[in-house]
Amino acid sequence: MLIGVPKEIKNQEYRVGITPAGVSELTCTGHQVMIEHNAGESIGFPDSAYQAAGASIETDVAVLFDKAEMIVKVKEPQPAEYARLKPGQLLFTYLHLAPDPEQTKGLIKSGCTAIAYETVTDTHGGLPLLAPMSEVAGKLSVQAGARCLEKSMGGRGVLLGGVPGVEPGHVTIIGGGVVGENAARVAMGLGAEVTILDRSVPRLRELEARYAGRLKTLYSTQEGLLNCIRRSDLVVGAVLIPGAAAPKLITREMLKEMHKGSVLVDVAIDQGGCFETSRATTHDKPVFIEESIVHYCVANMPGAVARTATLALTHATLPFVLALANKGWQQAIKDDIHLMRGLNIHAGQVTNQAVAEALNYAY
Ligand code: NAD
Repeated sequence: MLIGVPKEIKNQEYRVGITPAGVSELTCTGHQVMIEHNAGESIGFPDSAYQAAGASIETDVAVLFDKAEMIVKVKEPQPAEYARLKPGQLLFTYLHLAPDPEQTKGLIKSGCTAIAYETVTDTHGGLPLLAPMSEVAGKLSVQAGARCLEKSMGGRGVLLGGVPGVEPGHVTIIGGGVVGENAARVAMGLGAEVTILDRSVPRLRELEARYAGRLKTLYSTQEGLLNCIRRSDLVVGAVLIPGAAAPKLITREMLKEMHKGSVLVDVAIDQGGCFETSRATTHDKPVFIEESIVHYCVANMPGAVARTATLALTHATLPFVLALANKGWQQAIKDDIHLMRGLNIHAGQVTNQAVAEALNYAY
């Protein structure tokens, strides 16, 4: 199969759909890979590394879209990209169609077959192609929060780890899933005092067993949360109710109870955010202050560490890329129910129930 990997064109997106190591895996099984010129240059994957792995480099993106049987990307296709997709062509990337009627229309019109990373499942009920980005965002949330606590960023001037004779900072993490656990690990590693809240008792039990003595776990109620944020320097919002907007767990009123200059990092901002005062920000201007509290609400946090994020993402996607290339998509999804759940669009139809319901398409 001929696999095409275009350079991402979304603003501030430096990740790339396949690494040179991934190209080697594909070319040694007999596939051809065409990479757009400079697709990975800015994160240390130059054209020469792709060529050494057996890829061809294409400077004209129109040729790449015209020739490739499967397009592998990172972000959802932008209008200029879905205009180039065609019937019979396979697209494998993040799509997030439910809140995006324009892109959905574009993909339907193109006649392509689109498999979305975010709806591929695994045997544990997880989302294996979303989890690596949650791991990255979780770890970054504390790194970003620690920086925001510095005076120059508007923070209250607290060092999370403390020093001998000075107590460490207090970190509260709301939501103990993939983001929350990774945030907790970094915060504990820095030496902060960490409390994690969740609504799932089995999940709290797991975290307690894993980090006993180093992590406080708390069932999430409004009262418990208010007590925690009153003494917190950093609060990380990491809740998810699948398919729904994030609940607003910290209201504007509650911010008045917090120390001035403490920090909220709303990782759940891509689902609308779990703080009433959150609004999405970008890597160019990641922070704003409301009610004397510093807010960090970047919707695509992994973009900040595009090299690590690319490696983490492609390690998870490569087995599926190989299956799709080796078997063709029809057989690959027949053999793997989890990959089948990724099928969102085929031949002008929406093929994912949640997307169809969200956008009023027949299913
Ligand atoms: P997850 O499903 O692994 O974990 C979510 C956790 O939230 C679950 O344990 C759930 O029980 C808990 N929860 C639900 N309602 C709660 C409540 N009221 N109080 C306390 N806990 C509650 O999800 P995840 O992968 O950790 O993702 C968390 C959020 O981070 C999602 O909104 C996801 O989209 C977002 N995310 C954002 C970025 C970014 O760049 N901003 C990157 C990755 C993930």
